[in-house]
Amino acid sequence: MTTDDLFRSDAYLRECEARVLGIDEAGVLLDRTVFYPVGGGQAGDSGELLLADGRAIAIADTRKAKDAEGKPTAGIVHVPAPGQETLLAALAAGERVTARIDWERRHRLMRFHTATHLLCHLVPQPVNGCSITPDYARLDFHMTEPLDKEALGAGLARLVEAAHPLAVGAISDAELDANPALVKSMSVQPPRGTGTVRTIRIGDPASETAIDFQPCGGTHVANTREIGAVIVTKIEKKSANSRRVVLGWAA
Ligand SMILES: [Zn+2]
Repeated sequence: MTTDDLFRSDAYLRECEARVLGIDEAGVLLDRTVFYPVGGGQAGDSGELLLADGRAIAIADTRKAKDAEGKPTAGIVHVPAPGQETLLAALAAGERVTARIDWERRHRLMRFHTATHLLCHLVPQPVNGCSITPDYARLDFHMTEPLDKEALGAGLARLVEAAHPLAVGAISDAELDANPALVKSMSVQPPRGTGTVRTIRIGDPASETAIDFQPCGGTHVANTREIGAVIVTKIEKKSANSRRVVLGWAA
């Protein structure tokens, strides 16, 4: 069963009306949603499903649905928080709900996620690890040279301040195959499967403000200025050929 993923075309949607497709031990499957399922290094959304009678089922996490063999399907499952059993037992397929994300939390994820794309511009090395949470983000680069925390922080602040616009686009699988260098991550595969791959562009490709262009299925802010007060909190030598950059919020 397929869930229409409204957040892919508009990351700013905070809620939507939806119909329940099914409920099982994994959670609640909806026909459409604004909840981002964990993937590509980005944490899944939390929030609530508002029922017609005004009660709300608390949602702790969001995941891609899996088939009997454990392979991800085109469905999105809303994972209830503990203690929702009574409300879940009364919920039936076909019922209408309002799916509402925890927007404050999601906006932090969008700001951090967009900041990791700026790091890809500042550190033009392959990425071999990524984790984006509401409280911190980290990006691991496959490289042997040290990174300068102060210089990286200053570069990030400059790109945020420059207010570069973001554009969501798409390229065909064939175009991506012909341009493998577009894929900056060794650990996260581009979101293939439909014949086209979603892309995120930062800056104007026709000028020196071209900042970053890569396949990505995550949620981002529309302009780098919206990232706000993100700082480089730590740089770690994870291994001989891996450097970890950790981002946090300015106090
Ligand atoms: Zn992204």
